[in-house]
Amino acid sequence: MDSGNGNTVERNYDIIVVGGGILGVTLSYWLSTVPGLKIALIEASDDVARHSSSRNTGVIHRPFYMNPEKKKLFAWASQKSYGMWKSFAMSFNLPWNPTGTLEIARREEDLGRLDNFSRWAVQNGMESSEFTVFNRSDMISKYPFLRGHGAILSRTDTSVDFGIFTRSIFKSIKNDDFTFIPDTSVEAESIDTNRSILMASNGKRKMRIGFHHLINAAGSDSLNIAHAMGLALDKAMLHFRGDYWKVANNKLREIENNIYTIPEHPEFPFLDPHFIVRHDNSRQIGPNAAPVFSPYAYEGISERLLDPFRTLFEKPVIPKLKLFLNHEFLSLAGSEWKSSLSKKKMGLRVKAFIPKFSIDMLLDRGIAGIRHSVVDAKGFLEDSIILNASNSTHILNYNSPGATGAPAYSAHIVHDMLDSGLLGERRDLDEQRGKIWKFEEVYP
Ligand SMILES: Cc1cc2nc3c(=O)[nH]c(=O)nc-3n(C[C@H](O)[C@H](O)[C@H](O)COP(=O)(O)OP(=O)(O)OC[C@H]3O[C@@H](n4cnc5c(N)ncnc54)[C@H](O)[C@@H]3O)c2cc1C
Repeated sequence: MDSGNGNTVERNYDIIVVGGGILGVTLSYWLSTVPGLKIALIEASDDVARHSSSRNTGVIHRPFYMNPEKKKLFAWASQKSYGMWKSFAMSFNLPWNPTGTLEIARREEDLGRLDNFSRWAVQNGMESSEFTVFNRSDMISKYPFLRGHGAILSRTDTSVDFGIFTRSIFKSIKNDDFTFIPDTSVEAESIDTNRSILMASNGKRKMRIGFHHLINAAGSDSLNIAHAMGLALDKAMLHFRGDYWKVANNKLREIENNIYTIPEHPEFPFLDPHFIVRHDNSRQIGPNAAPVFSPYAYEGISERLLDPFRTLFEKPVIPKLKLFLNHEFLSLAGSEWKSSLSKKKMGLRVKAFIPKFSIDMLLDRGIAGIRHSVVDAKGFLEDSIILNASNSTHILNYNSPGATGAPAYSAHIVHDMLDSGLLGERRDLDEQRGKIWKFEEVYP
């Protein structure tokens, strides 16, 4: 029940989850299956999945391309989550389009990467029947419309709508202990870590919220919240927009798989655009990765005049300065911007591996999405990070394949918190409720 005076109401919860993207919603799902926890999910927008979780390529990635040592948690979460998503989509009758993904070695020196991929696929738990490696001549005879030196086909990669998935999971979380607080932003600078209190606001009304534990799944704002709680102070965040273009309905129907290319610069978040077969069988190309100065600059370069200044000079400055003095980074960023502005530039990047592709096949822009990448003095972080403090848990750099791995990744976080006593007294998971998944699926 609310208490408080005037424009400020007061509430108290055991757990506050900040951010209603696919991560915050799956975390809330798992928390809500544990009897006796009073949970609030606070979301700045009017509904869940308004940002990255709806604005992405929509591919459930199989973990063939994930180095099991460097991307250990994501490789595990992607493998575990595949079956969870499949059974969920079937039982809720949601779009599930097993398009498969063909990843091409465009340059001869990338062929070694294909060998790594087939090794990692097995190490990460994929069945050998799920993928095939093609040398150049086999690839050209099976896919005459492609150009490259070889490829790997991952048959079980699947196109879905992660926005629909997130909303369906959210709808299934109905119990008296769960409260959704939409249109409300947690003000990072207001968090009082010692007293476990924060302020949240919807513009008109303020809320003072007390919590036992805060889980930070705030995507673009996750690092600000961690900084406000004294964590990850050596890290900074940069934003990269990915634009998509729609392909005319009657064009390139003969291409039935997603077509990716092995990224030329894996150390940077710049991907070569892909050819995508969406969950509804429409075709698109994208995304590029153009640097922008605010987290929701879905058009243009920033939302407010001061955003560039803030992004560049907010502390810590060193990681950003190092990048902006890196010649290679600057030249790649420049060319990403060209393909953001020009349909022709974007199209030419696809024509390099699908020669019959022509610019006049592109119709309108699709929905753009923004990736929030964390950097430190060594450069871009390859993996996501989970930081646990006594009254908070923070998930930072939760980028692709974040949507793919969300069910198992968030189960892992909640399970760990239960195990380590962060959620108070140990709870009996035999009494676990929940309409979609149970912990025993993740930890048999
Ligand atoms: C272009 C692009 C393509 C991608 N393609 C794929 C793909 O094909 N497959 C895949 O698996 N992954 C893909 N990803 C990655 C995937 O989309 C993300 O990893 C995932 O959506 C991140 O989910 P999230 O919940 O952390 O973030 P978000 O969906 O961004 O959610 C964070 C939420 O926090 C809210 N918030 C922020 N600050 C506050 C605050 N102070 N108070 C309250 N609420 C706040 C925001 O409003 C937002 O709703 C892609 C990402 C991009 C950008």
